[in-house]
Order: sequence, then structure tokens, then C-alpha cells
Amino acid sequence: MRRPVIAGNWKMYKTIAEAVEFVKRLRPLVAKSDHCDVVVAPPFTALAAVAEAARGSNIAVSAQDCHWDKEGAHTGDVSPQMLVDVGCSHVIIGHSERRHDHGETDERANRKLNAALAAGLVPIVCLGETLAEREAGKTRDVLRRQSHGGFAALTPTEFSRIIMAYEPVWAIGTGRTATAKMAAESHGYLRELVAEQFGHGVGSGLRILYGGSVKPDNAGGLMAEEEIDGALVGGASLKLDSFAAILNYPRR
Ligand code: PEP
Repeated sequence: MRRPVIAGNWKMYKTIAEAVEFVKRLRPLVAKSDHCDVVVAPPFTALAAVAEAARGSNIAVSAQDCHWDKEGAHTGDVSPQMLVDVGCSHVIIGHSERRHDHGETDERANRKLNAALAAGLVPIVCLGETLAEREAGKTRDVLRRQSHGGFAALTPTEFSRIIMAYEPVWAIGTGRTATAKMAAESHGYLRELVAEQFGHGVGSGLRILYGGSVKPDNAGGLMAEEEIDGALVGGASLKLDSFAAILNYPRR
């Protein structure tokens, strides 16, 4: 049994006060949610305050990115050790918006992943194809490239600590969701790739989240798929009622 994870990616939204208020109101709503892990990923500025507001609860705090060095002359960057210092347990790596806005490559994602693991963080590693790639029938090639590049040189033990998020780029923030079957097919393929690279035990234990316009009304259908182990939620995680409804998706 793979324990589901529902993670909210708040992107560049919420002041410190708004983020803390959200977590204070979320706490009682998830206090009894023992069916899944709950993660929120506020912007860097709110991490410390959110970690404080979530202390003693079942809400884990994630950053949205990190650098690969522990410290150094990297203006504007934040190291994995600094994230641990403010109370993060998770970090999102290789999100398509980082790939698009900041030229993040598979090779950089791999360096960040190694650094995050070394710091003791749980990386949530994102991969997924663009619309042009899907329409050209290249989805599997892209997933293979991202998976091989992003996970190069990890040992099976290291790899077993990560969470993967399949996020088709064309479904992120667009209101277009991959059908549950489409997502499950890609998840199954990713699991095969991981099994090839790290062995069957690691492949079958890997938690793969789906991300891309997950909303309260489609969360149950997605989560009903055997291959889908949770969701990375952007827009719908910004409002308490929709995030809580996704967290409490209808269960079999
Ligand atoms: C995301 O930010 O990872 C995401 C999937 O966004 P949205 O749910 O808004 O599509």
C-alpha cells in the first residue's frame, strides 16, 4: 500500500499573514485525515511562519525550489540546508514553471535532487510533457529523458525517498485536466522506467502524484486510479474550502 500525498503548491501567492491564517484554519480540518500525507508549499517568504503555524500538526511544509549548494555566492538562491533550518521537510524540484521561467534543465534538477536528499529533505520531483510533445506522440520519450536525466547517479536507497509528480505542462493552470486514464497510463510508464533503473521493489513503492488542474470535482476520479498516489495541486490549493475538499476526496 502506498500512502497518498496531497500537496498544495501556492506558487507566488499569499503574504505571510494570509499563509499563516490558512494553515491555522486548515489544522482542524485535517486533524483526523489519516488517509494521506498533507503538504503545503508556500513562497520562500512565508516558510518560517508557516512552519511555526503547522508545528505539532500533520501538515508538512515544502519549499518550491532550492539550490544545489549548501552555501555560496548564489544571489537570490536558497540552499536545502536553509530550508531545513526554517522547518521544511519537503522541496519541489523541477516544476515546469521553473523549467520555463528559469531555464531549469534535467541536469540541474538532478543536482538539486541530490542536494535535497543529502540535506534530509523529501524531494517532490516534477516531470511531464508539453502539449506539442503530447500531440507529436512524444510523451513517453520525454518522460524517459526527464527520468533518466533527473534521476541519474542516485542509488535505489536514495531514490526510494523521493516523491514523483507527473504534471503534463498543458494541464497546469489551464483548467484542462488529463483524464484519469491518461494520467494512470503515464504513471504506469514512469513506474516501469523506475523499475528498470532502480529495481521492481523501488518502482512499486514509489508514490507518483498527478498535477494539472486538480479540483474538488475531479480529485475522486483521479485518486480512484490504482496508479495515482496523490495530487500536486496549484490553483485549487489557494482556497481553504477547495483544498480541504480535495484532501477529503471520496475514498473507495
Ligand atoms: C502546479 O502548480 O503544480 C499545478 C498543478 O497547478 P494547477 O493545479 O493550478 O494546474
